[in-house]
Amino acid sequence: MRLTTIGAAGEVTGSATLLETGAARILVDCGLFQGHRHDAERNRDPFPFDPRSLDAVVLTHAHLDHAGRTPLLAERGYEGAVHGTAATIELAELLLRDSAHIQMSDAKRRSRKRAELGLPEVEPLYDLEAVEALLPSLVGHRYGHWSRLADGVRARYHEAGHILGSSSVELECETRAGLRTILFSGDLGSPGRPILRDPAPPPQADIVVCEATYGDRDHRSYADTLAELEELLLEALRGKRKVLVPVFAVGRTQELLYHLATLFREGRVPAMPVVLDSPLASRATAVYRAHEEVYDDEACRAARTIERDLHTLEVTASPDDSKALNYRQGPLVILAGSGMCNGGRILHHLRQGLSREEVDVVFVGYQAHGTLGRRLIDRPRRVRVLGSDVQVNARIHSLGGLSAHAGRSELLEWLDPFARAGARIVLNHGEPGPRASLADALEERTGALALLPGPGDRLEL
Ligand code: ZN
Repeated sequence: MRLTTIGAAGEVTGSATLLETGAARILVDCGLFQGHRHDAERNRDPFPFDPRSLDAVVLTHAHLDHAGRTPLLAERGYEGAVHGTAATIELAELLLRDSAHIQMSDAKRRSRKRAELGLPEVEPLYDLEAVEALLPSLVGHRYGHWSRLADGVRARYHEAGHILGSSSVELECETRAGLRTILFSGDLGSPGRPILRDPAPPPQADIVVCEATYGDRDHRSYADTLAELEELLLEALRGKRKVLVPVFAVGRTQELLYHLATLFREGRVPAMPVVLDSPLASRATAVYRAHEEVYDDEACRAARTIERDLHTLEVTASPDDSKALNYRQGPLVILAGSGMCNGGRILHHLRQGLSREEVDVVFVGYQAHGTLGRRLIDRPRRVRVLGSDVQVNARIHSLGGLSAHAGRSELLEWLDPFARAGARIVLNHGEPGPRASLADALEERTGALALLPGPGDRLEL
């Protein structure tokens, strides 16, 4: 078998791995590169394979850095199916449509600027039509059931505990050397979290391709993080502060609403105004509500009371409603996308709020290199937001314990049985430092030597 690591090899976006078994060619994930402008430009590069030659495409989950380039596959000649769990497929539809809108408005804005300089306009990476053309080929599957993917390859989806529908995908392949199984972790969540079930990988695999996002550190404990959030909200109430939370529309938003509902219900924080300022997040929240079957028991109970507990929740509709929030006094919590501040409504809240001392900015997810979110975490004195130079007087917080990604110890725990049983371990989806650190820790613990491929590397396994 041969693996080619196309994206997320030594970085955390652009996930895509090509698997060739001799009889079939399978692409696992097909994600957008995100971060700097030059990262976004890489999305336009030709694929290092002919899309027409693929037999199947599988998505581990719906986040755009894993699924966002799939419309390009169809546009460039791929005619087969795109597989994932049922919830992944449902969320992918939402996210891909939204992505097309972003690509189209981004291209329009850049074209306007270029026209002033007498330069030709830019085409969007893809448009809504390209997404609509892809949608009929999306196929949803149940967790834990085998399904045929291509000649000599079948797939099974296991809970990854990262977002709704997220999976570790097990592929069983007929090869010249006999049956071989390869397991793609996808993004892994932390065990013991509310809402989603814990990651539950299969017991055995010959090859394991695992993420390494937080390979160099553990998160603060979940209880400590909730206590920190509680303190922050109480202070916002006392000081009439505005709390800005950049959120990923799918995953973080729903988990945060759950935490806020819990804090209000238990009386730890008096109910205060909360605004969900993300149309995509509102739609994704509805998908979450419709999929109670994949929740843990606690979340099922909570889902039934969440509307009552969060009676202070407002949902904005139009961009004007969103801008009107600039004039609202605190105490107020605003959840807005995008999660890494590389676009979305959070930008105008930041442009208006960063210079104000009575504002808190609270990060709850991973901030990739090159994003505004990453720069803000380093507490700069000034940053550029939407073309304006803004002084940073707001308080900046990182609540690592609410991350959707497993921490270092949890990754090691997940990898341990595979490594001890002699599986080949490949680490991808991590910046160089965290990835190398995880590889060292794994070797120390189990003796296993992990492979750390770069972009475009081919591994014969
Ligand atoms: Zn993800």
